[in-house]
Amino acid sequence: MSKMRFFALQELANRKPLEISNPSNKLSDYYGSHVFDRKKMQEYLPKEAYNAVINAIEKGVPITRQVADLVANGMKNWAKSLNVTHYTHWFQPLTDGTAEKHDGFIEFGENDMDVIERFSGKLLVQQEPDASSFPNGGIRNTFEARGYTAWDVSSPAFVVDTTLCIPTIFISYTGEALDYKTPLLKALAAVDKAATEVCRLFDKNINRVYANLGWEQEYFLVDLALYNARPDLCLTGRTLMGHSSAKDQQLEDHYFGSIPPRVTAFMKELEIECHKLGIPVKTRHNEVAPNQFELAPIFENVNLANDHNQLVMDLMKRIARRHNFVVLLHEKPYNGVNGSGKHNNWSLCTDTGINLFAPGKNPKSNLLFLTFLVNVLMMVYKNQDLLRASIVSAGNSHRLGANEAPPAILSIFLGRQLSSILDEITSHTSHKEMVGEEKTTLQLGLGRIPDIMLDTTDRNRTSPFAFTGNRFEFRAAGSSANCAAAMIAINAAMAHQLNEFRLSIEKLIEEGTGKEEAFFRILKETIIASEPIRFEGDGYSEEWKQEAARRGLTNICHVPEALMHYTDAQSRSVLIGEGVFNETELSCRLEVELEKFTMKVQIESRVLGDLALNHIVPTAVSYQNRLLENLRGLRETFAPEEYEILSADRKELVRDISKRVTAIKMLVREMTEARKVANHMPHYKDKAFAYQENVRPYLDSIREHIDKLEMEIDDEIWPLPKYRELLFTK
Ligand code: ADP
Ligand code: MG
Repeated sequence: MSKMRFFALQELANRKPLEISNPSNKLSDYYGSHVFDRKKMQEYLPKEAYNAVINAIEKGVPITRQVADLVANGMKNWAKSLNVTHYTHWFQPLTDGTAEKHDGFIEFGENDMDVIERFSGKLLVQQEPDASSFPNGGIRNTFEARGYTAWDVSSPAFVVDTTLCIPTIFISYTGEALDYKTPLLKALAAVDKAATEVCRLFDKNINRVYANLGWEQEYFLVDLALYNARPDLCLTGRTLMGHSSAKDQQLEDHYFGSIPPRVTAFMKELEIECHKLGIPVKTRHNEVAPNQFELAPIFENVNLANDHNQLVMDLMKRIARRHNFVVLLHEKPYNGVNGSGKHNNWSLCTDTGINLFAPGKNPKSNLLFLTFLVNVLMMVYKNQDLLRASIVSAGNSHRLGANEAPPAILSIFLGRQLSSILDEITSHTSHKEMVGEEKTTLQLGLGRIPDIMLDTTDRNRTSPFAFTGNRFEFRAAGSSANCAAAMIAINAAMAHQLNEFRLSIEKLIEEGTGKEEAFFRILKETIIASEPIRFEGDGYSEEWKQEAARRGLTNICHVPEALMHYTDAQSRSVLIGEGVFNETELSCRLEVELEKFTMKVQIESRVLGDLALNHIVPTAVSYQNRLLENLRGLRETFAPEEYEILSADRKELVRDISKRVTAIKMLVREMTEARKVANHMPHYKDKAFAYQENVRPYLDSIREHIDKLEMEIDDEIWPLPKYRELLFTK
C-alpha cells in the first residue's frame, strides 16, 4: 500500500489537461440536441399526439394507449437519428449518490435496458423491472419482488451515449411509492392546488401555481490515482483519517483563484454534455475549500430541475473519470475543511407569470406577495422538524452546526427592511390605519416595497432559510442528497399552511368581516405567531444556540432522532394530510432513512477498523522498530551519560507510539463489540440509535490517535495520501 501512494504522486506529475472543443461555436446548434423536447415532438409526432402530450403536461389529462404508441414510435425514430440502440426506464430509487453498496444513481441500462427496435407504447408507459435490490423499507416482500415504473410525461426523455432514457416513477406491486419522484409529484400537485386557491382570492385569472427550483451543486475533485490509494474514500466517500494540512483554507486564495487547467477541461466537457441534455447550467466557480467547486443551472420547475440534478451528479462522476478525477459528492470528505452543500433556491410562480415571492409593483400585488411571504414564515416555523428530517443524513450531519453550514436550528432571514414592514403591520389594530398610496380594493399601504428590495447588501450567509429578493434559499441540504427530499417537505408543508390560512380567511369573511380586514387580521396573527423563526443575526454563533433554545426552536444533531420526526404528529398531518404519502409509505420512508444511516456508519466503522489494524498499526510498529535500532546504535556508540541525553526524545517517541498503537487496538476491539451489540438489535430504529450513540463516537476517538501518528511517523513510509496531497494537487 505504501508504494501506491508514491506511484500515485508520480503519476500525478505527468497529468495533462484534456483538449475539449465545443461541438459548434453557437450554443443553440447543440443545446438540447439530446432531449425529446417540444421542438422534436413537433417534428416527430403527429399533431394529435403532440397535442395530447402537451395536454398531459399542462393539464394532467391522461394519455391513451393509441397516443402512447404514436409517441413511442416518434421517440424511437428520433432516437435512431442519434444512433441509439437501447432504451431504459430511468428512475430514482431511495438511495442517494454516495460511494457505497448501491451507488446512488441507477446505471444506464443495468436495470431494464432493452433494444430500441422493440419499443412500443406499452413499453413506454409501464415496465416491470425486477427491482428487489432497491431499498423499500419492508414494502415489498422478497417473494413479491416486482415493482412498476411508469412514464412521467412532464419530464422529457433524453439520450445518453446510445441509450434512450425515459424518466419514470417507481412504485411497488401494491402501488406504494418506492422512489423520490412519486411523492414529489404529489407534493407539487398539492402546493399547486393550495396556492392557486389562495391566489384566486385575489385574481380569478390564475389557474395554476408552479414551484421552481434552482440548485447549487458543490463538489470536490480528487485525482484518480490518489483516490485509489485511499480505501476510505473509495468505500465511504470521505476520509476517515488524515491530519490537517499545514495550509488549508486559511488564506481563502482558492475561492478567488483561477481554476486549474485540468479542472477547466473537466468543467468544459461537463457543461457541453449538460447543454446537449437541455440542462441550463450557468455558473462555475471555485468554492471556499481547496479543490472544491460549484455548478449551478438556471432554475426550472421543481420536477425537471431535480431530474436534471440527478442526471448532472451522474454525468459529473462519469466525465470526471475521463479526466482522471473522481468527484466527491459527500458532504464532508475532509475534516477541518468546509464541506459541500446543495442550496435549494425555491419559489412559486403563477401561470399568469407572477413570482409570488417577488414584491409587486402595486399595493394589490404586494398583498399577494405578503400573503405568501408570511405563510412561508409560518410553514417553516411549524415544520422545523420535518424540514430538518428531510435533509439530515450520516454525511450531512458532519456539516450542520459545524460553523461552516447552517446549524441544525431552522430560522428565516428576511433582511432588515422586510422585517420592519412586518413589524409595522403588527403595530396596527385595523387595516384602516394603514393608508396606501393607491386606492384599490385590497391594500395595506405597502406600495413602497419594490424600491427597498433593491438593497440586498445585508444578505445573510449563515441563515438556513434565507429570503434572497425573489425566492427562498434552503441552505441546509447536503451535496449528495436528492433535492426531492427537501422539496417534498417544503412544498407539502406550504400546501398545508396555505390551506389552513385560506380556511381562516374564509371563516372570517363568512362571519361578516370585510375581505381586507380579514387578510389584515390573519396576516397580523400569523406574523406574530411565527416571530420566533425570524433571525437576522449570525446563525453560526454560540449565542444563537442559546437564544434559539429560549425561543423554543428545536436543535437536533442526533441523526436518527432528527429522522424520527418524519412521523411526528405535525409531519403526519402535512405528509399524509396532503396526500403525499399514505401510512405505509411514510413509515417505510422512515425505515429506509434509518437503515441508510445505519449502513453508512457500519461501513465507515468497518473500513476504519481494517485500515487502523492493517495499515496504520503495522506502519507504526515498523517505524518504532527503526527507532529502537537507532537507540541500540546510540547506546553502542556513546557513553551512558551522553546516551541518556541524546536518546531522550526517541525514547519518548517510542513510548508515545506504543501508547497509541495499544489505544487503537483497544478502541477497535470495543468498536467491533459495539457494532455486534447494535447488529443484534431486532428493530431498525434501535439499531440506528445504537449506531449513532455507541458506534459513531469511536470513529473520532480512533482517528485522533491515527492523525497524531501521521505527524510522528516518517513520511516515506506513511501508506495513505495525505491531506496536502489530496487537497493541493491540481
Ligand atoms: P447565489 O448568490 O446564491 O450564488 P445565484 O444567482 O447563483 O445565487 O443563483 C442561485 C440559483 O438560484 C440559480 O440556480 C438561479 O437560477 C436560482 N434562482 C434565481 N431566481 C430564482 C427564483 N425566482 N426561483 C428559484 N430559483 C431562482
Ligand atoms: Mg446560494
